[in-house]
Amino acid sequence: MQFNYEASSTMDLNGVDYNLLQFHFHTGSEHTINGTQYPMEVHLVHQNDAGELAVVGIMFEEGNENAFLKNFSDNLPAAKDDNYSSTTKVNAGDLIPSTGGYFTYSGSLTTPPCSEIVTWIVMKNPIQISASQIENFHTIMHDNFRPTQPLNGRVIDDYDCSDFHWEYEGEDGPEAWATCFGDCGGDSQSPIDIKGSVVD
Ligand SMILES: [Zn+2]
Repeated sequence: MQFNYEASSTMDLNGVDYNLLQFHFHTGSEHTINGTQYPMEVHLVHQNDAGELAVVGIMFEEGNENAFLKNFSDNLPAAKDDNYSSTTKVNAGDLIPSTGGYFTYSGSLTTPPCSEIVTWIVMKNPIQISASQIENFHTIMHDNFRPTQPLNGRVIDDYDCSDFHWEYEGEDGPEAWATCFGDCGGDSQSPIDIKGSVVD
């Protein structure tokens, strides 16, 4: 089950723009953090103009109902290969936790052809989902996660937002603010270009 994303949504990674193509879910999580598997993980798949992929992985932990997923979870397709289209406009950025930093490493697609073309960004903090929402997704998708693979000497960068000092230029500039301050990626940000008449 995959949600193709029409609204334009971009992410800046080391000064390169990536466009959000689609997002999809795994039950349980594919990444584990210090050996812990979470009940569900969402993958936000981004691509740059050179065709390289950057996938943001966010863990779900059982807790409160997830308002973003409520857009879908009351009305999920009956089979995992069914297409889903929502009449509700959604902002996938709403899924990204507002604090906490992330881990990043070089990896692959987690399904065949398993191409090693993915920069992974795994958010440190999980977001919450209710037990019944997990159940709804699991009923459709069953256990659709690949087991963890050997690190084989790869380095995992640990990006801690407590070390993030926002700037007006460079790699900590405005395009990067939303990675540590989720609100900066919202739909009602300021400043704007004021379209109107000025009276003097
Ligand atoms: Zn995935």
